[in-house]
Amino acid sequence: MARLGSWIEPFPEGIFVKPADAWVDPSQPKDRALVTHGHADHARGGHGAVWATPETLAIMDVRYGQQSANPVAYGESVRLGEVDVSFVPAGHVLGSAQIILDYRGERVVVSGDYKRRPDPTCAPFVVVPCDIFITEATFGLPVFHHPDTGSEIDRLLHRLRAEPERCVLVGAYALGKAQRVIAELRGRGHDEPIYYHGAMERLCRLYEELGVPLGDLRPATGAPKAELVGKIIISPPSALNDRWSRRLPDPVTAMASGWMRIRQRARQKNVELPLVISDHSDWDELTQTIRDVAPREVWITHGREDALMHWCMLHQIKARELNLVGYEDDEEE
Ligand SMILES: [Zn+2]
Ligand SMILES: [Zn+2]
Repeated sequence: MARLGSWIEPFPEGIFVKPADAWVDPSQPKDRALVTHGHADHARGGHGAVWATPETLAIMDVRYGQQSANPVAYGESVRLGEVDVSFVPAGHVLGSAQIILDYRGERVVVSGDYKRRPDPTCAPFVVVPCDIFITEATFGLPVFHHPDTGSEIDRLLHRLRAEPERCVLVGAYALGKAQRVIAELRGRGHDEPIYYHGAMERLCRLYEELGVPLGDLRPATGAPKAELVGKIIISPPSALNDRWSRRLPDPVTAMASGWMRIRQRARQKNVELPLVISDHSDWDELTQTIRDVAPREVWITHGREDALMHWCMLHQIKARELNLVGYEDDEEE
């Protein structure tokens, strides 16, 4: 065979798998799409047919309406053209998968987005040895070190108790982060009702339907102000500073994101209590994962490729930078 991975072609709008005539996470409508997970920079509506995990398909139904869907559960395999395609957990959000592509003795793994830390809302990342590992690099700089999630949740609970006459408003992405923050709070013994912005409702319900318990959740809209005193309210980041939040009882504005490691980002969003909770790998997780997977080549996308390219070079791993568009993870992680 020709060059390693010559059957996989990266285009700006996604990764084309030639012998399957299918695209991975295409940002444009395609006849055949393999989708790693439900975030908007990976899952789009309008494809002819979609292959994804049942959970990702359920999330896409909520966001884009009914798809022409082919569910592939973790560990299952389907044959598309001449390629065997299977899905294994990526540990990123509910249903998130790495896509394994096997063709004529070569194995390519497309990670999508992933993290290695425990997350009560999704299955943990599985290490799959392969020839080419296509990795994200959202937090691909050595300065990115995410602290322990439990200690960030404890800071949130401490603040709630320290100012009992206020409430804490937590900005969190509607898919994944919001449910994870709620589940982590429950895991820390916080049994109080948690209130949510209307934009969270359908995905929280879906998580519960798919077997992720979130405890006593109530809509914030319509709740009397007095009832919200001393409570935690979860909203999309975009609602933190808008009119909606003005009716809350003197909220402490918090935000749960890997980007909260950057002080300037917290300040831009008027965040009083930045919580560094990320659904992406930090630098140590990225480099440890490349060690664990031990591929012959690493293809890097989705963020800050340079430093990881350099790290691979130092460790004598062949690396290549892919320039895909529509992969900037600022809005949603
Ligand atoms: Zn992403
Ligand atoms: Zn994602």
